[in-house]
Amino acid sequence: MIIAIDGPSGAGKSTLGKMLAKELGLFYLDTGAMYRAAGLAVLKAGANLDDKEKIVEITKNSVIKFEASPLEQSQRIFLNGSDVTDEIRSSEVSHAASVISTIPEVRRILVERQREIGKSAEKGCVLDGRDIGSVVFPDADFKFFLTAKPETRAQRRYEENLKRGDKTTYEQTLHEIKERDLRDSSRLDSPLKVAEGSITLDTSEMNLEEVFQEMLRIIRSKLNQTDFASAKEDNSKASVNS
Ligand code: C5P
Repeated sequence: MIIAIDGPSGAGKSTLGKMLAKELGLFYLDTGAMYRAAGLAVLKAGANLDDKEKIVEITKNSVIKFEASPLEQSQRIFLNGSDVTDEIRSSEVSHAASVISTIPEVRRILVERQREIGKSAEKGCVLDGRDIGSVVFPDADFKFFLTAKPETRAQRRYEENLKRGDKTTYEQTLHEIKERDLRDSSRLDSPLKVAEGSITLDTSEMNLEEVFQEMLRIIRSKLNQTDFASAKEDNSKASVNS
């Protein structure tokens, strides 16, 4: 089973993605973390963010791995063998990730890796990003588009940053979110958009638990319908055969 969650920064995609994966026993893949890790690799190499050729080469050569961390009930992300879980959350890396994600060749490399990870997950995978339902897995079993007002998203990001000791102000966070929204939705390759067949949830006025329950309700009701339909089909085959 593949569950795609797309939407702009700060809409709650990764928290909800992790909650759903845990509840349903699926693997969780944060595709934004892959763009962030590639962005960090570019910064570490001292490459210029205008140097597309160099950025593609660095992305191709970077080994990005996810490892479950049972103690924290979360995942750690490794870039070329080093744990970069916290480092990839800085404003500098957010900016680099947003810039390099506009390069089609970078997207091609990372999308291919995302498909491999998604397909190899034993019971299925929850992926969150910007283009999961439109490009990475257009045939996903479930497609959600999570959104919220920029001010609400900026407030959430600001609080997360504060907890991590990042002193970026609310105003600066809001400015960065709007800038990234614009870059994500106006890029030529795989822009952020509501994929066909997606269910949009505006989380501005909902808390996490409410959104989680709504997503679960949607998933379970479709799964029950499918079970019911296949049971009906089996029954009708049985009656034809008998
Ligand atoms: O989701 P997150 O904010 O961590 O993503 C970091 C950046 O990576 C985003 O600003 C976006 O530009 C890019 N991204 C993308 N496609 C994805 C996931 C993230 O372009 N599937």
